Amino acid sequence: MPKKIINVTISFDYELAWGVWDTVSPSYLFSHVSKANDAVKRIIGLHLQLGIPATWAMVGLILQDDVSPEDLLADSFLREKNTKKFPVINEISVRQHRNLFCVDREILTELAGAQFEIASHTFSHIYPLDAEKEDLERDFKAFSDLVKQKGLAQPVSIVFPKNQVNDLVIEMAQSAGFTCIRVNPDNFLYRTQNHGKYKRFLIRVLRYLDAYLPINEMIWKKYKQAKLAVHLSVGNIFFRPDCGCQFLDYMHFLRVVLALKFCEVTGRNFHIWTHPHNFGGNVSASINNYERLLRYFMKKHARSNIEFKNMRDLSAA
Ligand SMILES: [Zn+2]
Repeated sequence: MPKKIINVTISFDYELAWGVWDTVSPSYLFSHVSKANDAVKRIIGLHLQLGIPATWAMVGLILQDDVSPEDLLADSFLREKNTKKFPVINEISVRQHRNLFCVDREILTELAGAQFEIASHTFSHIYPLDAEKEDLERDFKAFSDLVKQKGLAQPVSIVFPKNQVNDLVIEMAQSAGFTCIRVNPDNFLYRTQNHGKYKRFLIRVLRYLDAYLPINEMIWKKYKQAKLAVHLSVGNIFFRPDCGCQFLDYMHFLRVVLALKFCEVTGRNFHIWTHPHNFGGNVSASINNYERLLRYFMKKHARSNIEFKNMRDLSAA
């Protein structure tokens, strides 16, 4: 029997402060998020050197050069949904800290190249399951208008914040022209659900352990996909760039290797994802860990075990 070649997809949620302002302290913004653009430049360099594609799901707001919280507050749809986020951001000048809020022009030029795919991570980092249908439609439109204005191709892939989807959101994304959506594995560990305090804590602990032990694989369930034209790409594993302990980082590397093995044995696509701001704690150590992983993928690729695919290249077959 001919050997099955596994599709390997790598995606980044490129969001800068707009994606974390509601969950982190200003000190985290300066310690990690402010170095995300530097990390992105080095990640791009590695991918170009090794010829590996990647999908970059960008928050639309990072493409705005001169947006300020005041400008955003002028828009009622953002104001209503984000009132609790603005106090943190209001303390920080967007114009003085561009690295926290805006993508560099040279990065954008690189990402628009053929090897990479620019996907949507929504315009405003809107949580679709908390949003009204009209707000989500406005968000899609705002992203679409923005890329048109920037002379970029309309994205066909989308990653919703926290990988949140339901049938209505999938249908809306499909109507808006998207052909691929990244989703969480369909099991109790990653499914979006409202849990009580103790269950939430337990799930947090198990997700942490899943970075080192194959818990997700032990409870893996085939994603139930209704007959849709849109492809749901299951994110198998989240890449943790550097945790400050070489032993744990190596355990995590082995964990990713095992996740890929699982996909090879079961004949599934493999999709790994992360955030550039997670590289920000120690950019050099994180890049070294990431390079080790990419070089492992290259070995598998040289043996014709895997094929690299961007999300737009995955079909709904
Ligand atoms: Zn996000």
